[in-house]
Amino acid sequence: PTDINALADEYLRMAYHGLRAKDNGFNATLVTHFDPDLPLVSVIPQDIGRVLLNLINNAFYAVAERSRSTVQQRASVGVTSSHADTMYQPIITISTQKIDNHILIKVKDDGNGIPESIREKIFQPFFTTKPTGQGTGLGLSLAYDIVTKGHGGSLEVESKEEHKTIFTMKIPI
Ligand code: ADP
Ligand code: MG
Repeated sequence: PTDINALADEYLRMAYHGLRAKDNGFNATLVTHFDPDLPLVSVIPQDIGRVLLNLINNAFYAVAERSRSTVQQRASVGVTSSHADTMYQPIITISTQKIDNHILIKVKDDGNGIPESIREKIFQPFFTTKPTGQGTGLGLSLAYDIVTKGHGGSLEVESKEEHKTIFTMKIPI
């Protein structure tokens, strides 16, 4: 039986420190909404942790991309880039909640979003839009297998609005 809140917190810190170490030159605000009454749930913690790490890393990448394009747009209209970071303050939110006999874990970002045209492909192995060396395209396909085959749950994505992506992991209690 695993405390999903503690697990999510641990992997969020891990992802954050990994990214700080690379010095991405941007600051994302991290928000957590952990349900304090979440029941313990039988999972393989390293596997669910790995899914969380993949989702969080993707979220960071998405907001970093949007930060970069915001800086470029401002530069092209003649605004100095030293002020550009005040324009877009990335927010990444991790939340947990219990609904009926499931636990929901959500990773939300306000990065560039996922175009409708590729939404069907992102869970396929080796599908990536990242430059060579920056993505393997395996993160989401592995995440999907871990959550569905490994835990009898589901993994869904919403990216309706231009700048909002939510991955929802649903795990039976
Ligand atoms: P990788 O991160 O190595 O590219 P993934 O399987 O983790 O592989 O993701 C596949 C693709 O899905 C990414 O290349 C990207 O195009 C898209 N994607 C995943 N998460 C996000 C996100 N939070 N925002 C925007 N696009 C995303
Ligand atoms: Mg990835």
